[in-house]
Amino acid sequence: MSLLKQMQQELLQLEEHSNLRHLPKMTHDGREVIVNNKRMLNLSSNDYLGLASDRALREEFLRTLTPDTFLPSSSSSRLLTGNFTVYEELEAELSHLFGTEAALVFNSGYHANTGILPAVSDAHTLILADKLVHASLIDGIRLSAAKCIRYRHNGLTQLERLLEEHHTTHHRVIIVTESIFSMDGDQADLQKLTELKRKYDNVLLYVDEAHAFGVRGRQGLGCAEEFHCIHDIDFLVGTFGKAAASVGAYIVCKKVIREYLVNRMRTLIFTTGLPPVNIAWTLFIVRRLADMQERRKHLAHISRTLREALQVRGYTCPSVSHIVPMIIGPSADTVLQAEALQRHGFYALPVRPPTVPEGMSRIRFSLTAEIRKEEIEELSNNISAYTD
Ligand SMILES: *Cc1c(COP(=O)(O)O)cnc(C)c1O
Repeated sequence: MSLLKQMQQELLQLEEHSNLRHLPKMTHDGREVIVNNKRMLNLSSNDYLGLASDRALREEFLRTLTPDTFLPSSSSSRLLTGNFTVYEELEAELSHLFGTEAALVFNSGYHANTGILPAVSDAHTLILADKLVHASLIDGIRLSAAKCIRYRHNGLTQLERLLEEHHTTHHRVIIVTESIFSMDGDQADLQKLTELKRKYDNVLLYVDEAHAFGVRGRQGLGCAEEFHCIHDIDFLVGTFGKAAASVGAYIVCKKVIREYLVNRMRTLIFTTGLPPVNIAWTLFIVRRLADMQERRKHLAHISRTLREALQVRGYTCPSVSHIVPMIIGPSADTVLQAEALQRHGFYALPVRPPTVPEGMSRIRFSLTAEIRKEEIEELSNNISAYTD
C-alpha cells in the first residue's frame, strides 16, 4: 500500500473512534476565545496566573523596550554568538530565587526534557520513571542510552522495591517524575521521593514542575519550594510557557551539572537561542512571581470548588490542583459533553487516547486565576451527573 493511502486509512480509523484531531481555528480576547463566531470563557489555557491575558502588564513591559532592546532573534546558538546578557541575568535571578548554585535556560520544556536525560545517561544508567510522565520525558528517555523501568503512577512502594533491587547493578539510577501531573492534576509525594533517593549514593532525582512553577510555593517556585526540598532534587526543571506567560524552560542545579549540560546537551547546543526579547519578558515576569500570592490563593480556591462540584455529581476526581479532569470514559460521550459545555459558553476540551488511556477520555479543565468564583458555579450547574 502506498504511504499516502496508509495515512488516509489511519486517519479514517481515528475519525471512526472519535479520536481525530484538528488544529482549531480561534481568535483570542483576554480570558475568552472566539470559535465559530461563539465567544467562550477559556477553560483550557495554561495561563494559570492569568498573566498572558493581563494587558496592563504587557503595557508596562513594552515601556521598557526601545528599538535597541527589542531583539526578536538571537541569530545563533547560545554557544556561538547567541548568548545575550539578558540570558545570564535571567539565570542569575533563577539561581538567586531558588538558592541553587546554578540555573540554565532552554528553548522550551520539550527541549529540556528531550535534552537533559540523553546528556546525563549512559548504558550503565537506569531510569525509573512514573507511568504518567509527560511525552517530552518519554522522548528524552527514548533518546538516551539508559535502561528504563516505568513504575505505577505514584507507586512509591514499588519504586522503593525497584531501587533496592537495582541500585547495585547500575552505576547510576535516575528517578523521573512530574510534581503536578498533566492529565490527572494529582501530585507526586516529593518529600517521600527525596527520602527514598537519599538512601543511596548513586540515585538522582529529576522533577518536572511544568504545572507547578508560578502556581505553588510562597514565592511561586513550585512544589519543591512548597515541600522544602529544592536542594534534594538534582534536576529541578520547569517551563515558562504556562504560569509564567512566556516561552522557554529552566533547570536549577549544581554548577557542575550546568557546565556538563552546556557541553553535552544537544537540544541546547544545536538550536538557535530564544529571542532576547522573550528572555527579557520572562525575566520581567519571574521578578514579579513572588508578589502573585493573591492570584495563587484565588486559583487554589476556585480549583477546590470545581473538584468538589465534580465529586458531588459522582465523578472520581484524582486532582489536587488547578488541572481538573472530568473523567467520562468513552471518547464519543466526552466529545458530546464538551460540545454541550461549549454551547453554554465554556471552552473546555476533550482529551482522548493516546494522550490518556483507552476508556479514560475526559474533559480537562485547566483553570486560571482570571476565572471568577461565580463562573465556576455556573459551570458546575451545567455539568450533568456521572453515568456509568
Ligand atoms: C507543557 C509541558 C512540557 C513542555 O513544555 P513546553 O515549554 O511547552 O515545551 C513539559 N513537561 C510537562 C509536564 C508539561 O506539562
